Amino acid sequence: MKRFALAGNPNCGKTTLFNSLTGSTAHVGNWPGVTVDKKEGVYKKCKEPVEIIDLPGIYSLSPYTPEEVISRNYILDEKPDCVINIVDATNLERNLYLSTQLLEISVPLVVALNMMDVVKKNGNSIDIQALEKKIGVPVIEISALREENLDTLMNRAYEASLKHRQGNTILLDSALKHLIHDVEIAFKGKEVSDPLFHAIKLVEKDELEIKNHQDLLQIVDDFKATFKDDTFGADFEAIIADERYQYISKNFSPVIKRRETAKEKLTTSDKIDRVLTNKWAGIPIFLVILLLIFHLTFSENLFFLGGLFHDVDPSFMGSPFEGLIWTSDGINSPGVILFNLLDCLTSWISDGVSNLLTSMNAEAWISSFVVDGILGGLFAVLSFLPQILFLFLFFSILEDSGYMARVAFILDRIFRRFGLSGRAFMPMIMGFGCSVPAMINTRTLADDKERTATIRVIPFFSCGAKLPILTAIAGGIVQYFGIGNADFITFAMYLVGMITAIVAVIIMRNTTMRGDVPPFIMELPAYHVPQAKALMVHLWDKVKHFIKKAFTIILASTIVIWFLSSFAWDWTYIGGEMDQSILASLGKFIQPIFTPLGFGVQLSTFGWVFAVAAVTGLIAKENVIATFFTLATCIIAHAEAGTLVINPDVLNELLSLEEASEDGVVESLAMIEATNITWPALISFITFNMTTIPCFAAVATAKAELPKKKLGMTILFWLVVSYITSTIVYLVLSWWWTLFIILPLFVLVGFGIYFFNKYLDQKKALQN
Ligand code: GDP
Ligand code: MG
Repeated sequence: MKRFALAGNPNCGKTTLFNSLTGSTAHVGNWPGVTVDKKEGVYKKCKEPVEIIDLPGIYSLSPYTPEEVISRNYILDEKPDCVINIVDATNLERNLYLSTQLLEISVPLVVALNMMDVVKKNGNSIDIQALEKKIGVPVIEISALREENLDTLMNRAYEASLKHRQGNTILLDSALKHLIHDVEIAFKGKEVSDPLFHAIKLVEKDELEIKNHQDLLQIVDDFKATFKDDTFGADFEAIIADERYQYISKNFSPVIKRRETAKEKLTTSDKIDRVLTNKWAGIPIFLVILLLIFHLTFSENLFFLGGLFHDVDPSFMGSPFEGLIWTSDGINSPGVILFNLLDCLTSWISDGVSNLLTSMNAEAWISSFVVDGILGGLFAVLSFLPQILFLFLFFSILEDSGYMARVAFILDRIFRRFGLSGRAFMPMIMGFGCSVPAMINTRTLADDKERTATIRVIPFFSCGAKLPILTAIAGGIVQYFGIGNADFITFAMYLVGMITAIVAVIIMRNTTMRGDVPPFIMELPAYHVPQAKALMVHLWDKVKHFIKKAFTIILASTIVIWFLSSFAWDWTYIGGEMDQSILASLGKFIQPIFTPLGFGVQLSTFGWVFAVAAVTGLIAKENVIATFFTLATCIIAHAEAGTLVINPDVLNELLSLEEASEDGVVESLAMIEATNITWPALISFITFNMTTIPCFAAVATAKAELPKKKLGMTILFWLVVSYITSTIVYLVLSWWWTLFIILPLFVLVGFGIYFFNKYLDQKKALQN
């Protein structure tokens, strides 16, 4: 099978082309650096199937970033049958800089001029024949997004792949041509493949080249030494870069025919950017957008219509849509509406199954197994899918439109103070979805220490799976203790995670992970109207992943938990006597660990549930709520049957709530009632789950992405951070005056770190 590689600048449309060609659904983003590892797929419409490889986006073949190293080594070492160089035609000159370097490698090459739809819309045109003649390889105009001309592209690439192509350079008139030639001959002597490419890179004093061919460096140094008068200056790399650009503007630029008026006018993108990236307004605008997103996703009072419907038309309120679409306070947000719909469906199934089992006179343990063990946990997890979807939809829109790149840009100034570059922003935002891709995305960070610090704090950006813990418990707190507003608590908890991340980064970057912040260079992509297809692809990815997880690992866990909580050590079914269960004794054993956090031994009868839930979360965070719900369903069932003593008022409220189908709040209330937990302890419990060791999948990813031997310390880091943060949250919320002990402690530690760093800097200065 033939292999074609897609190479090009970040954001030029490689992944879009890859998806169009292979029918695959890789992540497309209007954000430089979304593809960090190479993806493979198959194109079937040529004479034979062709394997397509989507390489990370690069600006040059010099090893400045990890992406450049991956792409360069792939082309040099694996020698694809053809390289398709994708060029963003709206940015022709800059994109062709990479092309001039690809030409130097002996590999079949075709240039795909992408985004031609935009060029045409702007009223410009490009003389393809002229460009093809000048550059010496086939040039094909396409639109990856509209799937225009892709078959022609592939046929030309296929033809090219049948022939050998010798590397050639545009640097024929270079001031350094003799030196390049000499080094090339030396490389040929060593029988290195692609002598021309390596020669030019060695003359540029490219790091990788120097490392691999130390012996040939002498030729370059000798050459330099013969020109004592500094004819060329010291920097050959700059000379060569300059010559490439000059060649491009002299030979390639004339192929563009620009519409007369297009030259001076500010583009729409520029105009939007004046507001959105404004020095003062930029960050407030971002925060407002975030708040709006949370409101649209979680709010049960979308338009603040407090009491309006009551006054208008009482009969209107009594309709079956009450509760579902609106409440007496106002209209539900789209997220809540979908949530309610799904909840109706799952409740209906649960009740149906339960009734069926009763009518069949099934044994108690069988009903309990099916209804509580399987359906309870599974539905608990699935019911949060709509809100996760909405959150993702909004984030995808922001990313695809090009706005997220701007946010990284405005945040870079702030990030720098914490010791990170703006590049770390994207992985963090992705962390709100799932830590796994977020950790992989840190590959765009060039510095190992910056990368380690970022990977460690990614789990603090609360992922989709942790969302149910938040909403259910926040709802419970509002209902039971009558404080606050569920929306606000959820948002505040996200903030707690972010603040913990910031503090942890500052501490790490000043202690174990000291180092300079690399400069943040990123060009801002043009604004796009987000593509419905791309958005759907993102969402489907999420749903697929989530559902798969729900039906495998989470289902298995809930069954195990049901078993452990329904049977005693002597394997007898204990029904409502959950306190005698295997799980209870295991939970009670670890419970004391959580006492300083507020959900340890101070809780009554069923307090061990919190300890158990926290531990099952290490497998998958959905387990926390699934565990919680499995046990809560049992408690409610037994309370109803009278086998468990529970405050009758609360029981009545629980039963009435159950009918009104509220989001996980019933279960929360049952847990609160059965354990006598306080609200500060509940907040502490959320905090613990948000900051502790992430799920199994994330830990495995961290192991793969972290530098060697850093996993152990990282796990310890997560444990320590979650323990300390949750304890602080619990103490301060329970006894506000403890703040006066904790704050000075923090200041003290801060000073300690500050002076220690001063001392280190001084020592370093002395050594130099
Ligand atoms: P990559 O970084 O090179 O993989 O680029 P992507 O495939 O992620 O695309 C970057 C952005 O450009 C996305 O928002 C795409 O929707 C958009 N895009 C890609 N190809 C075209 C095209 O031919 N025309 C237009 N108008 N937009 C495109
Ligand atoms: Mg890509």
